[in-house]
Amino acid sequence: MLKSKIFQILESSTREFIRKATGEIANRDYRIDSPSDDKRVKVTTTQIGAALKIVCPRDTSQLKADLVQHFEEVRGLIPFCSSPKSFRTAWDLRSELLNPWDANTIVDQGGQLVPINKGSRIFQCIQQGVELGRNKRLILAVRHSEGNYEDKMDDLGRFTYQPPNNAAGMLRYRWCQFLSGSMKIPYILLAVMWFKVHQPINKALTHVFMVSPAKIIDYEEDLKDIGISLSHPLELQITSRTEALSIVNLIFPLDETDLEIETRYELPEQLAREWSYDKLNNTEKGCRIKRWAQKTGKKCPGAMCKNGSIPHVEFKDLPLSEISFGHIVSKNWAKAYTYTLDKIDHPDNLYLTCRSCNSSLGDTFPDKSFRDDIVKSGTIGDWLRKDEAEIRKS
Ligand SMILES: [Zn+2]
Repeated sequence: MLKSKIFQILESSTREFIRKATGEIANRDYRIDSPSDDKRVKVTTTQIGAALKIVCPRDTSQLKADLVQHFEEVRGLIPFCSSPKSFRTAWDLRSELLNPWDANTIVDQGGQLVPINKGSRIFQCIQQGVELGRNKRLILAVRHSEGNYEDKMDDLGRFTYQPPNNAAGMLRYRWCQFLSGSMKIPYILLAVMWFKVHQPINKALTHVFMVSPAKIIDYEEDLKDIGISLSHPLELQITSRTEALSIVNLIFPLDETDLEIETRYELPEQLAREWSYDKLNNTEKGCRIKRWAQKTGKKCPGAMCKNGSIPHVEFKDLPLSEISFGHIVSKNWAKAYTYTLDKIDHPDNLYLTCRSCNSSLGDTFPDKSFRDDIVKSGTIGDWLRKDEAEIRKS
């Protein structure tokens, strides 16, 4: 049986994480930041060994099933999530009680107040902060309840979340960070808040919940040595439902065994707008990309360069004026079938090419080998995903 991409990733991640955890963590006390009291947790290598068996088992098929189920569960809850703006407003209320005026503001800002539901693990009042997924392997949600309100959320929706005070709980934080890195897909969980309603609707409906997807960010430093970072909090950032769906939907293709196409996550909308065709064609911004491509040794993905005499010409051998931005799906095609019209100038529909290849293509699609070469060398969107900072400097 062929192993899916995600199976292969988990197989090697498990091995690597176990090696790191057993190699880097020694018997010692860890301090967990807490303004109320100085929490110290004693950690032993025996505890770490036991925690590893739960958190990242060597049985990869079990782990894979739990991971896929995690993303399915999150996906199912995304429709109940609130907008980042409303979630931040609710976070800043710092009150357990929700009055009708605050509730109104929150709902106006795209917040959703979900009534308490005792059948759900998310929509009921539980004091424990971290809600675990199936088999206690992954983190499904973090709860923000009174007593935790010292946590600040910044303008970009970033906040930190302290770990539970036990070895397994701390190790699970590093494991979820590690998975983010090895899957190259941000780990998504849910941030949950609840409020007592000002006037209970009836005996059962006394509380409402607000939920937002949150992704794990800024983990690279923590993974350098988990012996040092074991007790560090998770850095999280709340995201929009659209971004969360786009991220979550990257997992499922990785679970296929016969898929040859590599999937990418959607470019942030702002970035896509900033680097769309109309902002690149004959502009200084466009020249930055061209110069960056020259500097990094990129080649034209086409074979008709210099009328076919030098296929795949290096951009550094061309003046900027002979380098063009090509469309994978052509502009005229989009006019004929208008469903793609709003995406035609998106950076993922654009690639850098020589003028000769671009004009030889006309309104037709690049053929299979041309397309393969575009995928290999990358769309403008791909370049931005990897090298945005360098391109801006070029
Ligand atoms: Zn060419």
